[in-house]
Amino acid sequence: MIIEPRTRGFICLTAHPVGCAQNVENQIEYVTSKGKIDGAKKVLVIGSSTGFGLASRITSAFGSDAATIGVFFDKPASPNRPASPGFYNTAAFETAAHKAGLYAKSINGDAFSNEIKEQVVNLIKQDLGQVDLIIYSLASPVRTHPVSGKRFKSVLKPIGENFTNKTVDFHTGKVSEISINPAEGADIENTVTVMGGEDWKMWMDALQEANVLAEGVKTVAYSYIGPEVTKPVYRNGTIGAAKDDLEAKAFTITEALKTIKGNAYVSVNKALVTQASSAIPVIPLYISLLYKIMKEEGVHEGCIEQIQRLYSERLYAGDLSLDEKGRIRVDDWEMREDIQERVVKLWASATTENLSEIGDLEGYSTDFYNLFGFKVPGVDYTKDVNEMVSVPSIQD
Ligand code: NAD
Repeated sequence: MIIEPRTRGFICLTAHPVGCAQNVENQIEYVTSKGKIDGAKKVLVIGSSTGFGLASRITSAFGSDAATIGVFFDKPASPNRPASPGFYNTAAFETAAHKAGLYAKSINGDAFSNEIKEQVVNLIKQDLGQVDLIIYSLASPVRTHPVSGKRFKSVLKPIGENFTNKTVDFHTGKVSEISINPAEGADIENTVTVMGGEDWKMWMDALQEANVLAEGVKTVAYSYIGPEVTKPVYRNGTIGAAKDDLEAKAFTITEALKTIKGNAYVSVNKALVTQASSAIPVIPLYISLLYKIMKEEGVHEGCIEQIQRLYSERLYAGDLSLDEKGRIRVDDWEMREDIQERVVKLWASATTENLSEIGDLEGYSTDFYNLFGFKVPGVDYTKDVNEMVSVPSIQD
């Protein structure tokens, strides 16, 4: 079929298998060009199909020749209905990994559930024995709790008071004001239940109890801090409360891993266009201004550059450069004082009329389409493609 983008707000209902495969190829090429990293050899990535998780899986496999198991939650294709991008990405990743002689298997299902944890434990036992790195990179708006069976929804709201600021519709470039009401009822607890650290701890407990963690194991979860302008809705908002909880769990997990000399870390990453971040109000405007400045300064990075640097210059470099709260920081370039000062100035003057000049709206929009395999250089979108691509290790 010929597949075209069909967008609805911040989501795209279609994805292009060839474009997704090309994105994966490009990331593999980048990691390969940077040379080998003396990293983990048996790696589990939870949330492995898009964004930072996919970049982590690619960096482990092609940077350190690691065997990888990936867990994700994506929709396979059906006739005339393309799969979700994570499914195509995983198919392309596995195909490339197998071609390179690397072990790669994937599990498509709800990582919050006991069943998927059990499946992963069994797969590790059967194929790898133990793992020495676990990347936790889930981003989800909902979680069904495995104990109570209750379904929780996360919300993106400020805490305490109403938040009013600028935002942009990145499809039209229209800058407008948006007002978000503060969290009410159980909004904060619910968001912490979905995006906090409880599930990360449950994963690590399940893996440790099953004795599938190697001595000296490392686990890393991803967090975000961001600038002053997004603080009320991000770091000081409901999602920030969840990130506080996630960051605190790193210490609880490290404590539990003491007997096997393991460590849990949080890495604070840069703001990037992913399916998760495009859903957060105000962030697209911030990212388009930030991209413009970081590109001008020559310090712009995508997910793959971020994770390659995380592994090669922090995690496996012997110097984690932890901040005062014990976190790894690869958002250091984003948070540079001169860069943030310029964002603040541009933010104040941003309007519909000048945004395409003072911000990188085009870069934002291209990145958004790229997430779904569209607007990828070198791909012929007029060509008929087979939408029924399958992931080699997943047989229906
Ligand atoms: P993403 O949407 O690109 O990826 C999320 C992954 O989680 C996908 O592989 C998806 O399949 C998987 N997933 C979601 N629900 C699942 C479930 N129930 N079971 C199994 N898999 C599931 O998101 P991302 O932006 O790469 O975010 C990953 C992490 O990085 C998040 O913790 C996010 O807060 C953090 N982070 C993101 C940014 C950013 O700007 N995007 C910046 C810093 C940190």
